[in-house]
Amino acid sequence: MRAMTRSGTPWVRRLLGAACAALAACASPAATDDPAPRPADLLFTGGPVHTLTDAGTVSALAVRDGRIAWTGDARDADAWAGPDTRRVDLAGRALLPGFADSHIHLEGVAAQLADVDLVGTTSFAAVVERTAARAALRPAGAWILGRGWDQNDWADTAFPTHDALSAAVPDHPVLLDRIDGHALLANAAAMAAAGVDRDTTAPSGGRILRDAECAPTGVFVDDAMRLFDGLVPPPSDDLRLARLVEAVRLLNAYGLTSVHDAGTSLDAVRLFETLARRDDLTLRLHVMLRAGEPALRDPGDDLPTDDLTGQGLVKVRAIKLSADGALGSRGAALLEDYTDEPGHRGLELADRDEVLELARFAVADGWQLATHAIGDRANRVVLDAYEEALAGLPPSADPRFRVEHAQILHPDDVPRFAALGVLPSMQAQHQTSDMPWAGERLGEERLEGAYAWRSLREAGSIIPGGSDAPVEVPDPLLGLHAAVTRTDVDGHPPGGWHAEQRLTREEALRHLTTWPAHAAFDEDRLGALAPGMLADLVVLSGDPLAVPADALRALAVDMTVFDGRVVFERGAAPGRGRDAPR
Ligand SMILES: [Zn+2]
Repeated sequence: MRAMTRSGTPWVRRLLGAACAALAACASPAATDDPAPRPADLLFTGGPVHTLTDAGTVSALAVRDGRIAWTGDARDADAWAGPDTRRVDLAGRALLPGFADSHIHLEGVAAQLADVDLVGTTSFAAVVERTAARAALRPAGAWILGRGWDQNDWADTAFPTHDALSAAVPDHPVLLDRIDGHALLANAAAMAAAGVDRDTTAPSGGRILRDAECAPTGVFVDDAMRLFDGLVPPPSDDLRLARLVEAVRLLNAYGLTSVHDAGTSLDAVRLFETLARRDDLTLRLHVMLRAGEPALRDPGDDLPTDDLTGQGLVKVRAIKLSADGALGSRGAALLEDYTDEPGHRGLELADRDEVLELARFAVADGWQLATHAIGDRANRVVLDAYEEALAGLPPSADPRFRVEHAQILHPDDVPRFAALGVLPSMQAQHQTSDMPWAGERLGEERLEGAYAWRSLREAGSIIPGGSDAPVEVPDPLLGLHAAVTRTDVDGHPPGGWHAEQRLTREEALRHLTTWPAHAAFDEDRLGALAPGMLADLVVLSGDPLAVPADALRALAVDMTVFDGRVVFERGAAPGRGRDAPR
């Protein structure tokens, strides 16, 4: 057992956490009674400051040395101003704890950013133009990848052919995925690299589109896409690092200051560590190592400690396991048959014994276990295994095991989460993405336990929220909107899909701040605004507790503060911040 050597065991952290909380309580807002407090670095006044603590909403907040120095009434704020203090007049805009995403795939987000984004292109000419612009930035021969074209959005809805693309980008092999991922367009250089010509036959399950002379047009459907497998070299570490920097900036622009990376290799952790040392990691990471990582069982000197950098930026203390697949592809493991596929109950990727064995290891070695479970059968299997592994633990152990997604629950299992101290880590955008077809898969009756946030709340659970990006967009404001309305961004269906399961505004904010902090054992330093806590903050263009629900989607991130530094500011020059993508 390695637990004794790791400062990150839940037991030790609990004690340290309690001490920090006590210290924070001493640095009370009454600090203004001090005749000359050392001036703040940043001083916010003039807007609602939602502390998400018992102090409720105040009107001013001071930041000093990377921490919150004071919260209180704006009339007392002048005492914190000095010659070097940057004063920010909120002018009615809201200040909140920085957003947290409890379930994201950071390298996935980074890889997606590196692709040419073709979503929303209104003509094939636009596709060619965007692709050529990207190729111009890359050395000849480098592969250019893109995704998201849809000929149904163009005036000419026929499949494109490669000619114009090959003429505009002759020196780089190009592969552009259609929006559904079931077809791609290759240019001449890519087809040459794959050795594809008029004599190539399509593999079974695939189709090569051809012109009148039988030459490939460049469009390859389904299994014919595999003709290009293995050709694109894996990115170098330098390229992965450069992409990660871009992803971190993007997430800062969305107001995120911490994320939980849901299933990471040790190799990626090393890159995170490098970023932190270069001061390029303006995001706190709670990393879940993949269950298959050999270093988990045989750490040697290889396994990073809980706090990799000494800056508290990269914590490696959780394990990610998958118990089933996804609902859309009918891989979610159900207790009864799929309504739209009788005889099929999904895929069980880990059975009860496997979950139990890993859960026991996690308890003994001081790890948090986070298991992906979407279907009601997978959720029951995981809860059963967790229950057995957690039985008899002293309350001080507090391992905070999690279920990732917890999408479809049998009513009997809803109260078991709170009873066992297991956290349902859920993604509000999955509900709005899945609602058009979830009923076909599950039937009306099972929808009662689908994305059942209100039922879980009533049973006593907190629900850490996230996006599962790149599956969904990593925009917490989209999550906030979905959690509060259960409608898509256009407000459909009116009144919300199974609206009885909505979260309140304040719950939805906690879902993206306070509750993720708890899920990462960070509640004493993150997720709320109180003196002594870390200065991770976000300024929104309006007040999410006050604007009409249909205006939540129009809110924008105006400023993101990480560790007391402004890392994003809307409208600021590049390098200091950049416009948040909408
Ligand atoms: Zn995921």
